[in-house]
Amino acid sequence: MRTAPASLRFVGGRGQNGLMTDRSIVFVHAHPDDETINNGATMARYAAEGAHVTLVTCTRGEQGEVIPPELAHLANPERLGDYRVGELASAMTALGVFDHRFLGDPGFPGRPAPEVRAAGEVVYADSGMAYDHDGGVVPSPNPPLGAFALADPEEPAERLAALLQELRPQVVVTYEPGGGYGHPDHVQAHLVTMRAVELAALRAQDESAGWAVPKVYWTVLPETLARESLRTLRQTLGADYVGPDPEERLPSMVVPDNQVTAAIDATAYTGAKVEALRAHATQVTVSADGSVFALSNHATQPVLGLEFYHLVRGQPGGRTDEKGREIDLFGGTVAG
Ligand SMILES: [Zn+2]
Repeated sequence: MRTAPASLRFVGGRGQNGLMTDRSIVFVHAHPDDETINNGATMARYAAEGAHVTLVTCTRGEQGEVIPPELAHLANPERLGDYRVGELASAMTALGVFDHRFLGDPGFPGRPAPEVRAAGEVVYADSGMAYDHDGGVVPSPNPPLGAFALADPEEPAERLAALLQELRPQVVVTYEPGGGYGHPDHVQAHLVTMRAVELAALRAQDESAGWAVPKVYWTVLPETLARESLRTLRQTLGADYVGPDPEERLPSMVVPDNQVTAAIDATAYTGAKVEALRAHATQVTVSADGSVFALSNHATQPVLGLEFYHLVRGQPGGRTDEKGREIDLFGGTVAG
């Protein structure tokens, strides 16, 4: 992969707290709620520090399971999709992030996406998912019309590349190749993001409109911490514990500790993350004290203010923690 030359142009502008900023970071996610679960504290921290934080959500999450019985009337793809757009807007307010886009919206840069809804409104549909007999995540046997996971990745990648060329972010964050835990839309979001970065960088070789993103990260969790926190949860909750066996195979985002190259301490923003999690009420249940949350599979997970990343494009830079991990995703970039 081509690395960015030192003389890159960065587009300056006003950050979200009104300060001048040269820092721009783009997070790409499959459904509303994924951004908060994976990167909520990081997003809130960078927004508060004046960076331009952009969230791109690929689908409206209309195949999600509705948890609260009092919201059961929303368990209809059309209604749920619209409702989750509102939940995501509330979550973004909680995180202090104001640049949010759906990849399939008509106003998104680049080629129009296929029309799969009413005239004029274009979206990629949530592909849904199913479980196999071992509890593993597999594609839904009945994906909806326009399922994001079944789209040719080239088309959404073109749209995302156009956005990257417009925003010129120093940092792009997405899932690792397994999509965190195997959801087909997450895997597709990973493929689309990596291809978009490649397309924008290829254009940067001979077009001023192109953009070679200096740093790309995948969201991960260090294995030791993941297993330890599950053991603690199981011990604390006893018979109430629902979740993976801490000694067995864990989801794909859990990686050997030495593959974690950045640890972002955003514990000061854990409160904002909890508030954003609560905003996704159809999908997420948060404990009264805000220390743990659960999705529709009821598996309990800790709310972490420390979030972890694996650098896959560009060079690490800036200060590191005692384990040699970067402590700032912008570290080493021109404006970082
Ligand atoms: Zn998701």
